[in-house]
Amino acid sequence: MRVLIQGASIAGPVLAYWLTQSGHDVTVVERAPGLRKTGGHAIDLFRPAMEISEQMGVLPRIEARATGTAIMTAHRPWSSRPARIDYLKLEKTMSDRHVEIMRDDLSEIYYDAARDDVEYLFDDHIASISEDGDVTFGRTSGRRFDVVVGADGLHSGVRQLVFGEVSERFLGGYLSVVSVPKSLAREREMTGYFEPNRVAMVYTADHLDDARAVFIFRPRSTIDFDHRDAARQKDQLRAAFAGTSVEVDSWLDELGRTPTFYFDAITQLEMPTWSRGRVTLVGDAGYCPGPAVGGSTSLAVYGAYVLACELARANGDHAVAFAAYERTMMPSVLGSRKLARVNAKTIVAGSRLGVMGLIGLGRLISALPLRATQTIARLNNRGVRLYDTMPLPETTPRLHSGL
Ligand SMILES: Cc1cc2nc3c(=O)[nH]c(=O)nc-3n(C[C@H](O)[C@H](O)[C@H](O)COP(=O)(O)OP(=O)(O)OC[C@H]3O[C@@H](n4cnc5c(N)ncnc54)[C@H](O)[C@@H]3O)c2cc1C
Repeated sequence: MRVLIQGASIAGPVLAYWLTQSGHDVTVVERAPGLRKTGGHAIDLFRPAMEISEQMGVLPRIEARATGTAIMTAHRPWSSRPARIDYLKLEKTMSDRHVEIMRDDLSEIYYDAARDDVEYLFDDHIASISEDGDVTFGRTSGRRFDVVVGADGLHSGVRQLVFGEVSERFLGGYLSVVSVPKSLAREREMTGYFEPNRVAMVYTADHLDDARAVFIFRPRSTIDFDHRDAARQKDQLRAAFAGTSVEVDSWLDELGRTPTFYFDAITQLEMPTWSRGRVTLVGDAGYCPGPAVGGSTSLAVYGAYVLACELARANGDHAVAFAAYERTMMPSVLGSRKLARVNAKTIVAGSRLGVMGLIGLGRLISALPLRATQTIARLNNRGVRLYDTMPLPETTPRLHSGL
């Protein structure tokens, strides 16, 4: 089968790898001129995504690139003493098998896994898709494909072409990630400033040349947000964090010279189905639970793997495969939406009491024995442990193809 995937971040390269394992011809088109080494936040890989990565043979590389953050220092405006939270214990409480890694590192590792077996078209995009699978591109000449997959993120072009405007839920906040000099962060520590309606943090990792400042905020009134207008977003960010602290000011001072800047509204997609004809969506393009609040990356890796399994199992009948893919994914997608809505309110609490509760919980987990915190967390497989308990399909794409 000839498969075209749009998007070379996380979902795209993972799907491309697994489709080549089942013997399909795979082309990936990506609008950036090369793999996007453009920063972004650290992301969490939970157990199923770790197991999929292990099957791909890339787990040792992923683990070698872990951020290594061990401690979180949490400042609050009403206390002169910052709280120290055991970050490793927090992670181990949430997941039995987990790694925190930068998005761009992970993207590169997945891309390398199948780069020689996949045709990559950078600096291009899909311009049109016909019902028969005829595709035109912005630059490359048109071709026919059996299946087209949108792995092109929250603002997916494939989704726009095939579904038009779809239902989205704004979760009330914005996320920004700014690359800042490494000297502004401390080794193995995440330094955070927590206030009602705004949180700012900075951290780095041994292998990085820079540090990443992360800002999450809920404006009191709606802001005029345009996801393509970085200059206006920077002004909005400065205004939102004015007066937080001298240290946060030093991160904001970098906005004028930062080489990488990410800003997005924390928005959730609410599509009841994400396949039509020969086209389906994977990862954020189809079921983004919300940047920063929803475990989107693990869901994207899992979704790519499930789709590849179902295409292999259906022996090329994409209608059968897409229906099975959606059935398998739906419980996790619905769970992730619910969890992200809760997280959006908890991570950036709207009141002083909420901030105190969040930091208090972090301190409690730090103080209790790990076995106790894990036992309590395991009672909540639909909440904090959702991403650890997504069931992997019983077979792999490799087995079906007989390779
Ligand atoms: C540069 C970058 C920084 C990010 N930083 C953060 C962050 O700090 N925090 C966070 O929570 N999430 C961030 N994300 C999103 C995060 O990667 C995803 O939520 C998650 O990993 C799922 O990945 P995905 O592959 O489904 O989508 P994405 O990671 O969003 O990748 C989509 C890919 O499709 C490409 N693309 C988009 N539109 C088109 C088009 N029309 N034509 C061709 N290609 C297209 C994009 O360039 C990108 O490579 C970032 C994504 C990117 C691309």
